[in-house]
Amino acid sequence: MPEGDTIFRAARTLHRALAGKVVTRFDTQLPKLARVDYDTPLAGRTIEAVEANGKWLSIRFSGDLILLTHMLMSGTWHIYRAGEAWQRGPSHMRVALYTSDFVAVAFQVPVAEFHTADTLRRHPGFRRLGPDVLSPSFDAEAAAARLRARPDQEVGVALLTQSNVAGLGNVFKSEVCFSCRVNPFRKVASLTEDEIDALLATARKFMLSNVTDTAGDQIVTYTGFRRTTGRSDPSERLWVYGRRGEPCRKCGTPILSYKQGLDARVTFWCPQCQPQETPAAG
Ligand SMILES: [Zn+2]
Repeated sequence: MPEGDTIFRAARTLHRALAGKVVTRFDTQLPKLARVDYDTPLAGRTIEAVEANGKWLSIRFSGDLILLTHMLMSGTWHIYRAGEAWQRGPSHMRVALYTSDFVAVAFQVPVAEFHTADTLRRHPGFRRLGPDVLSPSFDAEAAAARLRARPDQEVGVALLTQSNVAGLGNVFKSEVCFSCRVNPFRKVASLTEDEIDALLATARKFMLSNVTDTAGDQIVTYTGFRRTTGRSDPSERLWVYGRRGEPCRKCGTPILSYKQGLDARVTFWCPQCQPQETPAAG
């Protein structure tokens, strides 16, 4: 499941390779996109920008056309130099965007739509996105207000609700809760102001540290391992995620896991470091 950091990195890589370039060829297996390309061809348009918003990736073309994609579970964007062999078979290709020196390929993206600036503004999933934790202008106050507006949500669910705060996925959800010593099954209503502030600040810190730009101008398609512990040993890179039954890195108590929320996304936590009871105020 791609999280916001993956989409952010993909958008940045695509933007570097494609922005300012002219589309020389457009291929797609999706009939709706093919129809738009037939009526108002992509070839000849300039790629203006590639942006990430939460888990959405949008590619803006000259002439008020925007390609919006969402990866859900399976989708991925790759970028190749002209003539370079693709790492996935052509049958998995949904969209391929050619310029003189690069080709960007979307494999198995389940959501791919063309929009104008106007239809994108009215897009239900896009319009309702909460503040994006990776945005340079992230508004923590606004995100906190959106969290508090749903006091009955469990914290682990609230952090994944993209209309509260956009960009977090299942790995960071558990890691952020652990780091803030907040039990993910507590209701948002039980959180203190300080706890909400800490959860949002930690979410932003973890996400930003996982998009740190180490690749320079290199075109990379692979996204490295996520890390929250700050430890260099790859086996110690996460606090609790995927560590059911293993000892807590802080107290040694075995890590628990449980499916949470309507979507039954697995949550990991330490029952000792993240007690269920609401800590006394102050
Ligand atoms: Zn612990």
